[in-house]
Amino acid sequence: MTQIRDIDPTRYLIPLLLAALFCAGCDQSPTGRTQFTVVPESQMNALGEQSFEELLQKLPLSDDAGLHEYVGCIAQALVDALPQPHGSWSIAVFDQPSANAFALPGGKIGVHTGMLRVAQTPDQLAAVIGHEIGHVIANHANERLTQELAVQGGLMLADLLAEDSGSLDQEAVRRALGIGAEYGLLLPYSRIHEREADRIGRDLMAKAGFDPRASIRLWRNMIEVGGGQPPAFLSTHPSYDNRLEELAEGMQAAEAAYRRAVAAGRAPNCTLP
Ligand SMILES: [Zn+2]
Repeated sequence: MTQIRDIDPTRYLIPLLLAALFCAGCDQSPTGRTQFTVVPESQMNALGEQSFEELLQKLPLSDDAGLHEYVGCIAQALVDALPQPHGSWSIAVFDQPSANAFALPGGKIGVHTGMLRVAQTPDQLAAVIGHEIGHVIANHANERLTQELAVQGGLMLADLLAEDSGSLDQEAVRRALGIGAEYGLLLPYSRIHEREADRIGRDLMAKAGFDPRASIRLWRNMIEVGGGQPPAFLSTHPSYDNRLEELAEGMQAAEAAYRRAVAAGRAPNCTLP
């Protein structure tokens, strides 16, 4: 930001600090964790949509219509199982060799073709996409952007509240959304966010009629397929050492939910052509 402002940053910083102190912006994540977010949802959605547009300009889409249909079928089944409607979602399959996937506020999901080498079954791909949807519905980007605001102070908050995204610190926004400037890839999430996205994804896939045990198989594939070199998705989603154990912890309940979903006729028929 090079513009000279006539806004006194302390005018905004003090309310932000007070809000933090009294937890005025506190909310609960879907797993019941207390979280502090101050960015309006409409603004987060706009930032997510804008970043998605940039990625669409930058990265080539796969020209395999069958693959688009397959990935879209899985994503739609997961979205349909969300406890609350979250607006409309769109999905893009990018022709990229890296094993990567992401989801942005505003309901934008991206899967790289390289991910199909690792997520080898519909259930495993549902684990990937469910995890990414988990980051979105738990407002992880808003939490990260709120932390950026606390670090950077009032000017950025003033820009956000003025919905003046043109003058926002774009690097800080990208960091919060988890997008690496160069490749449009995810940046590392915190361990808390990873664990939460794992749990939400596992439970969501079960409710949608995908076998949640596939989430454990998926993480094993990540390690095996990666060989000495972890796939991009794994290297940007750190601390996988305890993840299998943590996923396994709630597996019984998830399996029960899966069986209920199947009994209720939820059996997504998504097949690779
Ligand atoms: Zn993640």
